[in-house]
Amino acid sequence: MQPVIALVGRPNVGKSTLFNRMTKSRDAIVADYAGLTRDRHYGHARLGRREFIVIDTGGFEPDASGGIFKEMARQTQQAVAEADVVVFVVDVRAGVSAQDHDIANYLRRLGKPCVLAGNKAEGMENHAQLAEFYELGLGALHPVSAAHGQGVRSLLELALQPL
Ligand code: GDP
Ligand code: MG
Repeated sequence: MQPVIALVGRPNVGKSTLFNRMTKSRDAIVADYAGLTRDRHYGHARLGRREFIVIDTGGFEPDASGGIFKEMARQTQQAVAEADVVVFVVDVRAGVSAQDHDIANYLRRLGKPCVLAGNKAEGMENHAQLAEFYELGLGALHPVSAAHGQGVRSLLELALQPL
């Protein structure tokens, strides 16, 4: 079995951009229309000779009953259950949000290996705002720029290390 990495996080943090960067595919629909990733949640990726599966989340099409937040939670839970390691993506430009705290609390309770990825960090490597994310209680933040490809390789090395 190949290891499975799930990308979770609130809408618009750059999960699909990171997914495309890891899988080098354009399968996930990257928004400027946020939240439109639909079917293509799984991608194949490799780091050197290691192959693994990446799950993107965020096809937040509300079902009739629960609406968008319920669907978001359902997808996150499903992906996390399938994954060997979770990459929790936050937006370092936006700062810590209430939704980030909700997701962090959920992930901490699960006790599955989790790496905190601070996306959109291009040009912000030493910025004070990065330290704010310690309050999520998931350890150090790993700055990446999915759009520019910075930090993605070392993030993957870190995520795959315990597997
Ligand atoms: P998702 O909703 O979490 O899947 O986020 P998307 O991948 O759809 O990206 C949301 C927005 O953030 C888009 O406008 C992307 O172009 C932008 N974005 C993604 N990654 C980066 C990045 O590394 N830096 C910057 N500045 N913007 C990014
Ligand atoms: Mg997306």
